[in-house]
Amino acid sequence: MTETTCGTEGERCANSLHRHSRELPAGREGLLEWEAERFHLATETLGLDSALVCALHCAVRSVEIEIPLLRDDGSLTVFTGYRVQHSTALGPAKGGIRFHPGVTGAEVTALARLMSWKTALAGLPFGGAKGGVPVDPTTLSTRELWDLTRRYTVGMLPVIGPEVDVVAPDLGTDARVMGWVLRAAAEAGLDDPRLVTGKPPILGGTAFRASATGVGVAHVAERAFTHLEGPFDRARVAVEGFGSVGRWAAREAADRGAKVVAVADITGAIYAEDGIDLPDLEAWVAGGRPLVEYPRADTVDGSVLTVPCDVAIPAAMEGTVTVEVARELSARLLVEGANGPTRPEAEAILADRGVPVVPDLVANAGGVISSYFEWVQNHQRLPWSIEVERRRVLERLDEVWDQLATVPPEKWRIHALATGIGRVVEGMVASGEILDGEGR
Ligand code: NAD
Repeated sequence: MTETTCGTEGERCANSLHRHSRELPAGREGLLEWEAERFHLATETLGLDSALVCALHCAVRSVEIEIPLLRDDGSLTVFTGYRVQHSTALGPAKGGIRFHPGVTGAEVTALARLMSWKTALAGLPFGGAKGGVPVDPTTLSTRELWDLTRRYTVGMLPVIGPEVDVVAPDLGTDARVMGWVLRAAAEAGLDDPRLVTGKPPILGGTAFRASATGVGVAHVAERAFTHLEGPFDRARVAVEGFGSVGRWAAREAADRGAKVVAVADITGAIYAEDGIDLPDLEAWVAGGRPLVEYPRADTVDGSVLTVPCDVAIPAAMEGTVTVEVARELSARLLVEGANGPTRPEAEAILADRGVPVVPDLVANAGGVISSYFEWVQNHQRLPWSIEVERRRVLERLDEVWDQLATVPPEKWRIHALATGIGRVVEGMVASGEILDGEGR
C-alpha cells in the first residue's frame, strides 16, 4: 500500500499527512496538475471549504505491487502495477487498466479521480478507479502479456471485486486482456463475470461495449455540432488515435454523414480532402501495415488536429492538445475522446479563439455507461440485444449532453466537473461520510 497523494496545493490541503510532491518524471507533470487545477475551479463554484475539498480529492485506497515477469529469453523484468480507488461514495469503484510506458502512480491517481466525477455525472451507481502498468504491450510476446495480466490480476485480487472495484479496458488493453483477467481471478477463487467489463461477449461481455466509447464520442460530437453550427453532414472531422476509441468514433461519424478527412495513430497522420475510405483503411491496418503508409491519403506533418476540418477529436493520449496545436487548430469544435487531452494553457487559447471544448467527462462517457449496462446484464444473467444496449447508452448520453447544453460552451468543463463532484458530495452526505452542512 502507498500513502495517498492528495494533489492539492499545500496551503489549501487541511490534512498534514498528505504528500504533495508529484513524483512525476520530467515532462509528465501534466495530468495530475491539470486535474487538480480544474477540480479546484469546480469546487469554488460549489462553495466547498478546504477540508471538504481535500477529503473529496483523497483516494480511498492506493495500491502498488511489484510484478516479476519471466521473459521469453529467460531474463526477469520487474514491473510496477498500480490501482487507485478514488471514491466509493456512490457505489463500487470503477475504472480501466492501462498498459502504457508512461503510466505513473500520479497519472493513475488523476485518472481515478476523473472516473469518480464521470460516473457521478452520468448518474451511475459507481465510484472511480484506475489501474495500470508502465509497459509498452507491443514489446511483449503474447505469452508475456498474458502472464503480466494474470500476475497483475492476482496481485490486485485482495482489493478488487464485483461489488468493490470493477475493472475494464483502457489504453493498451482490450477485450482479450479482460478475458485473461476474468480467468485469472476465477482460478484464484473469484469467479464472477461482474468483476470485469469490456470482456469478450462469449464470457458475458456485450456486443456493444467494444464500440461504445467511440460511438458515444461521435454521438456527442453530432449533438454539439448540431447545437452550435448546423447539420453534422456538413462537418469535416479529424481524429487522433485509431484504437478502441478513435477507430469507432471515426467510423460512427462517417456513418452519421460527416466526412472524416484525417486520422492518426502512433505511426503518424494522414489526410484526404475528399474523405478517407475508413473500411479500406481498416483493412490496410489489419494487414499489419502502418497507418501512415496508407497510399490513398497524404501524410501530415505535426498534429492531425491542425488539418483543415470542423471537428477535432483527440482520442489517443492525454496532453496532445498543446498550446501550438490550439493556435493552429482550424476546427470550430473540439470533442475530447481521450481522457485529459487538452492542456489548460491550450484550453485558454481555444477559449480566446472561441473554439468550444466538449470535455472528456461527457464526450467519452459512453464507455462507462455501456460498462454499467454490462454489469447490470451480468447481475440479471439476461443479455440484451445490441440494439437495446446502444439505444440505452445513447439515451443516457443525451441526458448528460442536454444538461451540459443549458450552459454556454466556455462553462462546459467546469459545469460538468461541478455536477459530478456535487453528486459525490451528495452521496457522502447521504451516507454520513460527511455530516450535513459540514464544509459547506
Ligand atoms: P488504444 O490503445 O486502443 O488506442 C490508442 C490509439 O492512440 C492507438 O491507435 C495509438 O496508435 C494512438 N496513439 C498513441 N499515441 C499517439 C500519438 N502521440 N499520436 C497519435 N496517436 C497516438 O486506447 P483507447 O482505449 O482507444 O484509449 C484512448 C483514450 O481514450 C485514452 O485516453 C483512454 O483513457 C480514453 N478512454 C478509453 C475508453 C475505452 O473504452 N477504451 C473509455 C474512455 C476513455
